[in-house]
Amino acid sequence: MKVGFIGLGNMGAPMAANLAKAGHQVTGFDLAAPCPEGVTPAASAAEAARGQDVVITMLPNGAILRAVAAEVLAVMEAGAVLLDCSTVDVESARAVAAEAEAAGKMAVDAPVSGGVGGAAAGTLTFMAGGSEAAFDKVRPLFDVMGQKAVHCGALGAGQAAKICNNMILGVTMIATCEAFALADKLGLDRGKMFDVVSTSSGYSWTMNAYCPAPGIGPKSPADNDYKPGFAAELMLKDLRLAQQAAEAADADTPMGQRAAELYAAFVEQEDGRGMDFSAMLPRFEKRGRA
Ligand code: NAD
Repeated sequence: MKVGFIGLGNMGAPMAANLAKAGHQVTGFDLAAPCPEGVTPAASAAEAARGQDVVITMLPNGAILRAVAAEVLAVMEAGAVLLDCSTVDVESARAVAAEAEAAGKMAVDAPVSGGVGGAAAGTLTFMAGGSEAAFDKVRPLFDVMGQKAVHCGALGAGQAAKICNNMILGVTMIATCEAFALADKLGLDRGKMFDVVSTSSGYSWTMNAYCPAPGIGPKSPADNDYKPGFAAELMLKDLRLAQQAAEAADADTPMGQRAAELYAAFVEQEDGRGMDFSAMLPRFEKRGRA
């Protein structure tokens, strides 16, 4: 397929490189980052989008997505698909999709789970919203960039699934970290704690696959001085998107709200910036009840 790829940062560059490696004809554009091997550089987003079957965006937020979408939709051919893989607010995802459809183009919102490692290995999970026809058209690209793509429903459903998943992730990471810090104070060995919880009803992805305690369980950012991984700032971004969506939809999400408050304090007032989101464990270690 002929693919335009806009946003070649930590996630976008390896995703675009994998598409090129698989034989797709990829043209890329980023304001700052260079094109990875196999991707032809374009001078603007519009140039990267012109004449392509699919235009993929992997951008920081909804405002930037809206601006880039306006530019690329003006030059995309009728029937081409705008495939946004960024994590953005549901409202922006739906607004961009509506604009695409009004212009005779197709749209899919398909944020990802799996992080930079998953992007490099081609093992991302895509959660997609959009029509059946649009989903089918981009499915071969999902097969290259990921190991699983779930068609979640209409436009915006992909973003909805993403923020619900990541709200669970943030809340669970905090629960896992505070439990380790409590276990420490109770004199419980961390290895024993892992052995018990990872095979008992408290198990979770954050305990079993991404353990926040160094030297325990499979290798994780905790074993690399809490270098991300999945940065605390990105966790905060997703928790805020979840709270924004909860407010708009009148949903009661008290744990999600508390998780957003804790990550906001961690990133903005404590020493969490630039750390992996599992660095909540050393944060709890340092603090007593007050
Ligand atoms: P990043 O900051 O590394 O990359 C974003 C890129 O977009 C940058 O290279 C930037 O120069 C480029 N950009 C910004 N404005 C642009 C414009 N107008 N035109 C062209 N390029 C522009 O971020 P990332 O980590 O690659 O994340 C991208 C998206 O994926 C975000 O929405 C993020 O929430 C989501 N995400 C990230 C991760 C992760 O682990 N990093 C995991 C899942 C989802």
